[in-house]
Amino acid sequence: MTVRARYRFAVHGIGTAPRSRLLMTARCLTPDCAWTLAPTDDEDAGNAACLTHAGLNPGHDEYARGWSDVAQVRRLEAL
Ligand SMILES: [Zn+2]
Repeated sequence: MTVRARYRFAVHGIGTAPRSRLLMTARCLTPDCAWTLAPTDDEDAGNAACLTHAGLNPGHDEYARGWSDVAQVRRLEAL
């Protein structure tokens, strides 16, 4: 008896899941500074918080910024 398997490749796409939000975080890179930005979905407000921290603390001019979301993979064509 022969068993046959048929495989077919389908095109998939990936994007932010419908119920997910893109969140921004930031951390001051000045040595001995522990300032961090709480996750926010408002990028302008996040950048403004970094600018405010820099304005209040001369020399604190480099930040590690990150964005995260929940990604969802979806099949883009029917099999
Ligand atoms: Zn700082």
